Amino acid sequence: MKAAFTLDDLPLWPHSANPDGYTADSITDALIEALDSNRIRGVYAFANSWALVKHPELSRVLDRWVAAGHHVANHTHSHPLLNDVEADRYIEEIDLAEEHLGPWMSKAPKRFFRYTLNLWGDTDEKRRRVKAHLDARDYAITEVTTWFYEWRWNTAFTNCLARDDQDGISFLKQSFSDFSIAQLRYDFDFAAKWFGGDIKGITLGHNVPFFADVADAFFAALRAAGLEFISLEEAAADPHYGEAASVVCRKFLNYQQKLAWVAGQPIPEIVPEYQATFDRVVEMSAGKRA
Ligand SMILES: [Zn+2]
Repeated sequence: MKAAFTLDDLPLWPHSANPDGYTADSITDALIEALDSNRIRGVYAFANSWALVKHPELSRVLDRWVAAGHHVANHTHSHPLLNDVEADRYIEEIDLAEEHLGPWMSKAPKRFFRYTLNLWGDTDEKRRRVKAHLDARDYAITEVTTWFYEWRWNTAFTNCLARDDQDGISFLKQSFSDFSIAQLRYDFDFAAKWFGGDIKGITLGHNVPFFADVADAFFAALRAAGLEFISLEEAAADPHYGEAASVVCRKFLNYQQKLAWVAGQPIPEIVPEYQATFDRVVEMSAGKRA
């Protein structure tokens, strides 16, 4: 298994406040350290620029990320979903992010863009117009073949922190790597079946407190399970990604699952052997937005 690791939503995860003891700085520093100790270099962070307008001091998070040898890419200004807005608004968001993120993006070897929630457009007009804009601006679309659902674990984790549930925290920390490795293998197996050959994977994590805590051991566990980390430039050059943003779909699905769903051949999103584990985490994250 060969895959690139990518990070979404730097410098500040937009969906929940950080619990006591965690800041945008501390989370990013922990991730930089974990990547460094696992010799994972040149990771692209798909950034949202809204946080730089609201909290200008967070530009130092991007400074530190780039100083550590990693890269910044475009993930829109304020993270709107293409299902919810018109093509014009989404295009403005792409351009606004480029304006704000320019100082860091210009240092990256390549211009990458990731759709928010990997949504390519719920009408053909939106899909075509946004894709044409990305092509005209020389962006390469970055897909996702595996997400690790660490945002789900994170919501459950912050719930456990709030009520000092140490057993819950232990369960979350112990279950995450095993789940992720199983999900990674499941996604690779299905992609190989779907495309009729191995794909170079693109994996995704977020800058959330739970992930900052487990990232060092997590990356080591993935490598021990047989994952070779490659650069995003290498992974994205895999011709299997030629179907990115090629079809209309409202569903939040990874690359191969989306293509299969549109073709009328859906598969379970979660690796079936770990569905019960996943359900327990979802239950533990109840009451908070995931
Ligand atoms: Zn995102």
